[in-house]
Amino acid sequence: MAEVNLNKLKKVYDGGVIAVHESDLHIEDKEFMVLVGPSGCGKSTTLRMIAGLEEISGGELKIGERLVNDVPPKDRDIAMVFQNYALYPHMTVYDNMAFGLKLRKTPKAEIDKRVRDAAESLELSEYLKRKPKALSGGQRQRVALGRAIVRDPAVFLLDEPLSNLDAKMRVSMRKELKLLHQRLQTTMIYVTHDQVEAMTLGNRICVMSHGYIQQVGKPLDVYDYP
Ligand code: ADP
Ligand code: ADP
Repeated sequence: MAEVNLNKLKKVYDGGVIAVHESDLHIEDKEFMVLVGPSGCGKSTTLRMIAGLEEISGGELKIGERLVNDVPPKDRDIAMVFQNYALYPHMTVYDNMAFGLKLRKTPKAEIDKRVRDAAESLELSEYLKRKPKALSGGQRQRVALGRAIVRDPAVFLLDEPLSNLDAKMRVSMRKELKLLHQRLQTTMIYVTHDQVEAMTLGNRICVMSHGYIQQVGKPLDVYDYP
């Protein structure tokens, strides 16, 4: 079970900026939750606290039954996908996808199977020997997704993963992400400033504004649709 619970979770940056006011949010196991709101409202900070990339200033964060406030990222059973892909430029697609597993000393045969399975499902099989610079933006983002998938995490954290793609690619990747979520049956927490993206992807949407959670609900309950 990988529900995620934020209990009065708070972030104050050095210098006193309150990026996230005491926030309560319950994300269910296998849910696709979208955090949406304008730039600066605290979405990324919230996601980065869940990832363990940002220290928590107050409150509690639970992944499953476990309090993870002080648990390092690699022990949280999460994987994160970034807007800028964060691929290693000198490594091949294969090595980029295998890297996290190698660090964890996963047996080689197991790594190979997971990388090839993920590559197949992401239509990357023929690109495994290429370097990132020889790929399109959409392919690079698929490699970043693949690197997360091979880890088989309980929770996927995605921070504006489609915002560097052109409009057409963005629409097709939305469909792929939706299918991926159905296939993997994992919890996904997805950050975007794009309402349409939030509507199409989310089982539920969490609307943030100025560091506060304003509303949480199903897409049609959150946005009036003509
Ligand atoms: P969003 O993801 O919704 O654009 P962020 O979580 O990035 O919002 O930022 C929330 C607020 O915290 C903003 O006011 C931003 O300027 C501030 N902030 C973000 N990162 C830092 C940081 N490292 N140091 C100080 N303030 C920050
Ligand atoms: P990984 O999680 O990629 O297998 P690590 O366990 O060393 O490798 O990474 C620790 C955390 O740092 C990860 O959970 C991830 O959220 C973050 N991270 C990993 N790679 C990058 C990167 N290239 N840029 C920013 N953050 C990263």
